[in-house]
Amino acid sequence: MNTPTAPWQRQLAEAFSSIDALCRQLQIDPASLPLLPEFKDFPLRVPRGFVACMEKGNPADPLLRQVLPVQQELQQFPGFSLDPVGDLDAVAEAGVIHKYHGRVLLIATGACAVHCRYCFRRHFPYQELQLSSQKLDKALTYIAERDDIAEVILSGGDPLLLNDDKLENLLLRISAIAHVQRIRIHSRIPVVLPARITPALLETLAGLPQKVILVLHANHPNELSTEVGDACRQLAMHGVTLLNQSVLLKDVNDDSDTLCTLSEKLFGFGILPYYLHCLDRAAGVGHFEVTLNRARQLMQTLQQRLPGYLVPKLVQEQAGAAHKIRIA
Ligand SMILES: *Cc1c(COP(=O)(O)O)cnc(C)c1O
Ligand code: SF4
Repeated sequence: MNTPTAPWQRQLAEAFSSIDALCRQLQIDPASLPLLPEFKDFPLRVPRGFVACMEKGNPADPLLRQVLPVQQELQQFPGFSLDPVGDLDAVAEAGVIHKYHGRVLLIATGACAVHCRYCFRRHFPYQELQLSSQKLDKALTYIAERDDIAEVILSGGDPLLLNDDKLENLLLRISAIAHVQRIRIHSRIPVVLPARITPALLETLAGLPQKVILVLHANHPNELSTEVGDACRQLAMHGVTLLNQSVLLKDVNDDSDTLCTLSEKLFGFGILPYYLHCLDRAAGVGHFEVTLNRARQLMQTLQQRLPGYLVPKLVQEQAGAAHKIRIA
């Protein structure tokens, strides 16, 4: 059913991995950018569709800023570490993170379609934790043996990077566990690679007896192209509840106009704003941090300007905490 040359897989293979090629496409002189000289452990990766949403000739483009490896990543910030959210302490079984009540995270794959420079899992030892077929049995047994687990959250990496067959197999095995009532997918792929939302995937999702929730990760209204809108409409038509989680990022989306437009555009695509996430303090991402005071100010403006259902919850992850911390 799924061939290695599905259009989305071809697009993935054609993603930009060279700064020079990316700069040529965007008509920007690479010499004018404060580039990181060496970034092999977390290389440039950005699908062409996402690049098409960037403004040509603008080195400060908010989408470009999210993917461009820059010198500031070498800067040390106090309190920024390799495992900022305590994921390693919460690994219950290979590929299973059990730190939230009633729900577990399954690391379906370590790979992503895009490499976001602000990513809190950029140092995560995926190779050790991601689910090989041998480890999958144990992970599913862990879930099956605990009937207080009502929700399974596919995370990563990006779970939608699995091909249709693998994903269908995984979803069907999860859905066969009687006490699992909801299956949630956290993914940036509908935004950066909407062609991945294939008819086969839609059919699989629609056929699951559980409620399916897809939490997209969009940070800026410019990311929401017509193609993204079409993919989201398809998902909604197949019974998927769509939510969005953004990360608050300096010089990307830390102004109220951008955040208001994002919420309104998301709703136009059938997506409810869920979380506005404060940056997780991973080493190398400090230049993206927005102060808590500024974050609170922005929230106040959003509350003044938007209906309540378009105001995301401002939250922060705290190592060891059993839920995200809501910031008042
Ligand atoms: C926060 C988070 C979750 C689960 O938290 P909820 O409060 O249940 O939404 C799962 N995956 C990721 C990547 C998260 O950031
Ligand atoms: S898609 Fe998500 S997990 Fe992957 S690099 Fe971006 S923020 Fe990190």
